[in-house]
Amino acid sequence: MDDYILALDQGTTSSRAIVFDRHGHIAGMAQHTFPQYYPQQGWVEHDPWEIWQTQRQAAAEALERVPEGRIAGIGVTNQRETTILWDKTTGEPVYNAIVWQCRRTAELCEELKRQGLTEQVQSTTGLLIDAYFSATKIRWILDEIPGVRQRAERGEILFGTVETWLIWLLTGAHVTDYSNASRTMLFDIHRLCWDEELCRQLEIPRCILPQPVGNSQVYGRVKPGIPGLERLAGVPVCGAAGDQQAALFGQTCFEAGQAKNTYGTGCFTLMNVGSAPVRSRAGLVSSVAWQVNGETTYALEGSVFNGGSTIQWLRDELQLVPSAPECDRLAETVPDSGGVVVVPAFTGLGAPYWDMYARGAILGLTRGSNRAHIARAVLESIAYQVTDLMMAMRQDAGCDITALRVDGGASVSDLLLQIQADLLRIPVDRPAMVETTAFGAAALAGLSCGLWRDMEELKTLRRSERIFWARRVQADCDQDYRLWKRAVERAAQWIEH
Ligand code: ADP
Repeated sequence: MDDYILALDQGTTSSRAIVFDRHGHIAGMAQHTFPQYYPQQGWVEHDPWEIWQTQRQAAAEALERVPEGRIAGIGVTNQRETTILWDKTTGEPVYNAIVWQCRRTAELCEELKRQGLTEQVQSTTGLLIDAYFSATKIRWILDEIPGVRQRAERGEILFGTVETWLIWLLTGAHVTDYSNASRTMLFDIHRLCWDEELCRQLEIPRCILPQPVGNSQVYGRVKPGIPGLERLAGVPVCGAAGDQQAALFGQTCFEAGQAKNTYGTGCFTLMNVGSAPVRSRAGLVSSVAWQVNGETTYALEGSVFNGGSTIQWLRDELQLVPSAPECDRLAETVPDSGGVVVVPAFTGLGAPYWDMYARGAILGLTRGSNRAHIARAVLESIAYQVTDLMMAMRQDAGCDITALRVDGGASVSDLLLQIQADLLRIPVDRPAMVETTAFGAAALAGLSCGLWRDMEELKTLRRSERIFWARRVQADCDQDYRLWKRAVERAAQWIEH
């Protein structure tokens, strides 16, 4: 009988489940979307029960596609930072899940900055003070939902990010893996424990927090009698990581200097920096990538607000292309962008600029500029922004980046990846199996339950579909990159404030 690993991939818009065989191939897969709730401008919530139902359903359906064989272990990966508080006895959430995108605590974050907590937060947690992270979301629920603070202080309430919620429902264990803990803004990434001082300053009772645990170990075994998951009773839940760290692991970026970028709606770049955290000067954040076999690996992380969404803008707002793949075809009809630069600062610019007042711009237009030039400039703009992040990472980490491994919806664009390789002068490597996030969770679980021997074996499971090498003359690429930098300066501080 064959052994399999089940990966639960709980994302922001859907819950997915993938069954992997011992070769790392997909044996079964299912996915269910769930509703997003926007109770006010800038607020985003999920129903924790809808997260659970869709995840359970997806798992049951994925398992049906693999009727024979044994599930040796379960790995969990999840949308990070999203915050749930629930009653320890009944399991009933006291409020909806407050999603990572939710900005309701932005003012509280400003207050924390005014109190002078910036330095302490960065040196302890590796993060910048921001409403993304869980801490101020927890505080909001404790302050705003009647009775919850008192119940929490009596030890009746549990907090968890989404992996904690799912693992608790599956096994009864109240744990969070180090990568997810790193995104709460309460976790000391050096000592790998909750920071008492930050908990006190944020008025968060220590007793609601889950136990921080490694990324590849048994957290508990699935309880019997979960509808649709009867077959999983007794199976160990034995691997977990937040989605971005899971993708870094799934891309087998096990050496310092290896990086991955996910070209999705936005872009998420993570670089393995080795066994000690790196403090960023460019506004990147540091977190635990994973701890496996007692060895902790750290990552630097940066994100681009508008990546693939710029292609959607070209399609939906400018209507220059009928579909995303057509962007490539149109851009390929010209040898270069003819001096046109698109700065997709639709919602401001993140690292390394951190300019909330920047706005989008198209610069360098001439009488001969046409839609193909603009389409090409759109692809270039995505690659430029990722280059900005990688340059900042290189500087912060003080080491070379040896390779970029890629995934996400827009990584199917050959032209985008060729432009990226030309700019970075390193190989840009697209894997054959693009479900890197789910595979990362499966790999962490498969290591601890013995399906895979070690990380060397995991490396052999990842195959490149295509590697893009720098082809254009470096001086030309450098000149274009300087033009991008100038264009960003023009778009900076655009709206009045
Ligand atoms: P997310 O998980 O962030 O929602 P995905 O990883 O599914 O996003 O990627 C979606 C993005 O991929 C979209 O913004 C879209 O523009 C882009 N995309 C999809 N197909 C293509 C394509 N053939 N060429 C270029 N970009 C594409």
